[in-house]
Amino acid sequence: MVCEAGMPLAEAQNHAEGVGLLLPLSIASEGTATIGGVVATNAGGVNVLHYGSARQLLLGLEAVLPDGTIVSRLAPLRKDNTGYDIVSLLAGSEGTLGIVTAATLALSPRPLGYTTFLAGLSDVGKARAALNHVRSIPGGVVTSWELFSAVSAELLMQLPQAMPLPLMERHAWYLLGEISHFGSDNGVLEALADVLAEHDMDDIIVAASGQQRADLWMIREAVSEAERAAGPTLKHDIAVTPARIGEFVEALLPACSSIDAAIRINVFGHVGDGNLHVNVLPRQEGRALTGEEQNRFSTCIYDLTHELGGSFSAEHGIGQQKLAQMVRYKSLAELNLMRTIKGSLDPHGLMNPGKVLP
Ligand SMILES: Cc1cc2nc3c(=O)[nH]c(=O)nc-3n(C[C@H](O)[C@H](O)[C@H](O)COP(=O)(O)OP(=O)(O)OC[C@H]3O[C@@H](n4cnc5c(N)ncnc54)[C@H](O)[C@@H]3O)c2cc1C
Repeated sequence: MVCEAGMPLAEAQNHAEGVGLLLPLSIASEGTATIGGVVATNAGGVNVLHYGSARQLLLGLEAVLPDGTIVSRLAPLRKDNTGYDIVSLLAGSEGTLGIVTAATLALSPRPLGYTTFLAGLSDVGKARAALNHVRSIPGGVVTSWELFSAVSAELLMQLPQAMPLPLMERHAWYLLGEISHFGSDNGVLEALADVLAEHDMDDIIVAASGQQRADLWMIREAVSEAERAAGPTLKHDIAVTPARIGEFVEALLPACSSIDAAIRINVFGHVGDGNLHVNVLPRQEGRALTGEEQNRFSTCIYDLTHELGGSFSAEHGIGQQKLAQMVRYKSLAELNLMRTIKGSLDPHGLMNPGKVLP
């Protein structure tokens, strides 16, 4: 599907649906985020596990470069091995190399149905281990594997319209998973329950209707809003390889507690991709973190991520806020290559000055 850059993502999704297909990019800001914006930021979201982020869905692109040149490669080619990948280069460049004016996005078949569940669990590592087993269940494709913490659950209860979780007990962690079906779903439910039980997840609810599926997703999507309602947070958007996600979480909480034992951290996100949002909440007495406290927490979280070979910005990009991390964690060779590219396309630094490149 070829879209102009100003089209809101939700409108593009509706057009795809109108012809019986799926534009699988899904983020909470889809009502306002534009195609140009999601391409420029290489947006991710809840379906990356199976469908990839904006860059992976991008088959072609049109952009205006800083010198006014129009680059147009909108043909929906799966294969085009004719030199440097200019389409991918502009994706995620956050407007520093050119202005995206149109994009060609890959559409997918719409699933015929979904198996969507919420489960309680005690150990994040088990969420990952279970994913590998659930993926081997025939009859479906795992499209989402989302995690949130007991702190998220508490914040959901503090919303003006409290959102209790529809489970029997309270748990340290909660997993929302979704299997999309493109054929018969015979036997999937039984196999899923067995696999989850094997991984110590026996407090589970499976959506029995479209409405119940929407209700489960509403819980997951309300986590950010519930966090916002609690006051200003110090946000981090990290990724490690999915196999190390358990190790990351196990080390994270003691590391942050060693700075301040009373601090509350809200961890949630796309655990199937190894991408977690690690957000430090304001103190319970309402006092905002001082600048020095913010630096200590961020350095602790990012250093741990780096030690585990991860990324300090999984899907939210760099902008102006993460320039210091670019210097601290990105290799000089990569930074210099980025500077060379930027310098040759935009020698006068016209495009989004002060962003992405320190
Ligand atoms: C509630 C909420 C939830 C979100 N959830 C997610 C999520 O789950 N996953 C995720 O990855 N992101 C998420 N985001 C961030 C998401 O990446 C952005 O909302 C979206 O991708 C940006 O689109 P936009 O049109 O709003 O761009 P803007 O915010 O207007 O711009 C973002 C950047 O892209 C540049 N830009 C915008 N348009 C163009 C263009 N046409 N050409 C070149 N550069 C351009 C801008 O200069 C700016 O640097 C969320 C944001 C919000 C507010």
